[in-house]
Amino acid sequence: MRLTFLGTGTSHGIPVIGCRCSVCRSENPKNKRTRCGALLETGGEKWLIDTPPEFRLQALREKLDRVDAVLYTHAHADHIFGLDDLRVFTARRPLPVYGSRETLKTLRRTFPYAFTPPKQAGGGFPSLAPHRVRRPFEIGGRQIVPLPVYHGHLRIFGYRIGGLVYITDALRIPAETLKAASGCRVLVLNALRWRPHPTHLSLPQAAEIAGKIGAEKVYFTHICHNLEHEAVSAELPPGTELAYDGLTVDF
Ligand SMILES: [Zn+2]
Ligand SMILES: [Zn+2]
Ligand SMILES: [Zn+2]
Repeated sequence: MRLTFLGTGTSHGIPVIGCRCSVCRSENPKNKRTRCGALLETGGEKWLIDTPPEFRLQALREKLDRVDAVLYTHAHADHIFGLDDLRVFTARRPLPVYGSRETLKTLRRTFPYAFTPPKQAGGGFPSLAPHRVRRPFEIGGRQIVPLPVYHGHLRIFGYRIGGLVYITDALRIPAETLKAASGCRVLVLNALRWRPHPTHLSLPQAAEIAGKIGAEKVYFTHICHNLEHEAVSAELPPGTELAYDGLTVDF
């Protein structure tokens, strides 16, 4: 299985529009963070986790040539606003997209034409087949376990796929999810900044949770402009890294 970080930034992306801080002005490509999403390659298939606003640019950068499924974590703008660019992957059949009932409801409201084809097809549109996620399910014979986490008051999903656990936008992780995530080889977890935040884990909080889950490798994502890549990386314990756009992990 190969995981590629398409984007690793928090909702406003880094650099933040109009910001003159040292991270936003940094020339280091690892400090340039598009909105958060991932590509998973497994058994000859390519799956996405979320379709952030820069999805088109991320897909071109990674030379993406096919998409077989999309797993949505939740329907905030920074995770869904690249959905329209799925259209090039849906010419031959509707593309299966997976998410909670609330997530699918927001997707249908935001992109109605992707679920009910317009009468006039000119201009192109994505054709999506929604699948509501409630319990573990399979794609292409591989099991996917939804992992409920709390993004403030909002209940959203992380996912476990074999040895990978991918959790973004969490603040609180229930005990059952910690249990379901334990023993994974690769853990991706959101870590916004040093200070606490009302809906996202801070870096110290994320590090504590990563310790409880006990993965071999930990990658922090959904990062804001308070965390300079090289300075923070130097302080992280072995086996723990700040992810960056374009990073690939094979396992
Ligand atoms: Zn987000
Ligand atoms: Zn800044
Ligand atoms: Zn969110």
